[in-house]
Amino acid sequence: MQPLIRYLLGEPHPSGTRIVDSQKCFRSEDIDEVGDNRHTTFFEMLGNWSLGDYFKAEQLPWVFEFLVEELGIDPARLYVTVFSGEEKYNIPRDDESVEIWRRLFKGVGIEAKAVHIGDPDRGGEVGMRGGRIFYYNSTKNWWSRAGPPEKMPAREPGGPDSEIFYDSGTPHDPKHGPHCHPNCECGRFMEIGNSVFMEYTKTDDGRFERLPQRNVDFGGGLERIGAAVTGNADMFAVDTLKCLIDALPGGVGEMRSKRIIADHVRAAAFLITDGVEPSNKDRGYMLRKLLRRSIIHASMLERGEEDANSLSAGYVETLERLFGIVCDEYAGTYALDRGRILAVFRGESQKFRNTFTNGMRRLAQYETVDVDTAFKLYESFGLPYEVIKEFGGEKAAALTREAFEERLEAHRQRSRAGAEKKFGGHGLILDTGELKAKDEAEMEKVTRLHTATHLLHAALREILGDEVKQAGSDITPERTRFDFSYPRKLTEEEVKRVEETANRAVQRDLRVECREMPRGEAEKTGALFFFKAKYGDRVKVYYTGGSLEGAFSKEFCGGPHVERTGLIGRIRITKEEAVAAGVRRIRAVVE
Ligand SMILES: [Zn+2]
Ligand SMILES: [Zn+2]
Repeated sequence: MQPLIRYLLGEPHPSGTRIVDSQKCFRSEDIDEVGDNRHTTFFEMLGNWSLGDYFKAEQLPWVFEFLVEELGIDPARLYVTVFSGEEKYNIPRDDESVEIWRRLFKGVGIEAKAVHIGDPDRGGEVGMRGGRIFYYNSTKNWWSRAGPPEKMPAREPGGPDSEIFYDSGTPHDPKHGPHCHPNCECGRFMEIGNSVFMEYTKTDDGRFERLPQRNVDFGGGLERIGAAVTGNADMFAVDTLKCLIDALPGGVGEMRSKRIIADHVRAAAFLITDGVEPSNKDRGYMLRKLLRRSIIHASMLERGEEDANSLSAGYVETLERLFGIVCDEYAGTYALDRGRILAVFRGESQKFRNTFTNGMRRLAQYETVDVDTAFKLYESFGLPYEVIKEFGGEKAAALTREAFEERLEAHRQRSRAGAEKKFGGHGLILDTGELKAKDEAEMEKVTRLHTATHLLHAALREILGDEVKQAGSDITPERTRFDFSYPRKLTEEEVKRVEETANRAVQRDLRVECREMPRGEAEKTGALFFFKAKYGDRVKVYYTGGSLEGAFSKEFCGGPHVERTGLIGRIRITKEEAVAAGVRRIRAVVE
């Protein structure tokens, strides 16, 4: 999604206006939910895009034809949702999609009634009412990187979407309200595809207007669609997972463990192939968790009368066999690195044996195992609830799965909040490597700081000479940090002059302009570029001050920048220091 934003806004895509693809996806936040019928950490996403090409009238019939005619899914099991509109922003209800859906269902002999639900929390009260098409509000049927319309920053694209659900026919769980509906959490309905109609953008004054082009972004989970094809809502019945489930020992009563192993082994194989190594941080930690949980669950499936305090003797062989099956199953589609996968697995397995033994020793030291102790054992040693409960015996008699899961959920929410802080909920709205912003306010700040950085760069060269060359740069909403080559500490006087020179450019309120051209030609203009960065054949040159020739500042750059330097505000250098021999660093803020 992220890399396509500029093309949705109108820039021509090198592959044209109709694009299809299949992507590997990994979702870490679902890891503790794996074990039921519809959660996996790894899945493949099928997508098609229209960049200002086809729209609703083509997209919906095509996706319906694909599911019903190509894949043979029973249309009576399909239910769809559409956007209920948002008066506040003058965005109409998506009756256009409703008409198309009605006609498509009619074509297969189904009278499709549209029912208004609006707020999904009211769904349990409203129920299905014989409907086939359901209107939901922007929490369910609106898509943008920032979420619903009110959360979107200015100039962000977004639009209504239309989801397709597969009805597995399982009974509704009244825990979620008196009635079932497509977005009910009970698991009866499984979303198998979503067509996003990206046709709006938010203006600077918070209104919504149409984009110059209307786009479509469709995404559908391959395994979920596969499950619908098999006629039930069990993702693990799909070939790529079933071949793993079938290769594991143990009975149907141990299905939860089997699903965990199948998902984790497959996800780990892909992560390892993509270069991830087990560690205690970020991606590495996720991989470690996948491998360790696979080991414990494989060990549990195999444990016989042998020593209960250690891992089973056979798990290494079992899991190695499973990794082999994953590689074979995907051969021809994805080239998984069998050698590296097995080497990483063996290394981690070796390390984990000690941790597991230590964990079991620690467990043995406790007099009673309550929920806090259990959670500690889980976090520090990777011992799951089942192991703690089983080996804790009498000591863990009072420990319940419910309490443990509650504790886990509280922890999960905390770490999710942490991740949101780090990544900004739906992801950063801007991340160029150099600039990062998570919302509109931060975007505005880093944009001002970015143009200020260009001015400082030009000012440094004006005052200190051409030996000043960029050595790095990092911009947060609080400050800009710019590294450059220079052999000695700057005097106070020099810092002051650099600051004044940059601020003079601010006071002149110069227009910031951009021209795109071949790299060779851009180099000849004398525009500055960062020798460590990789540039394509065509580059953008941002310059301030009248013409490119006489510009005060000109640099190869991807933007974004303020329109006029006057919008920056006053630039203040807060620090000058050394970072390495011959490399200086300045920090500056804008006020
Ligand atoms: Zn339900
Ligand atoms: Zn720049």
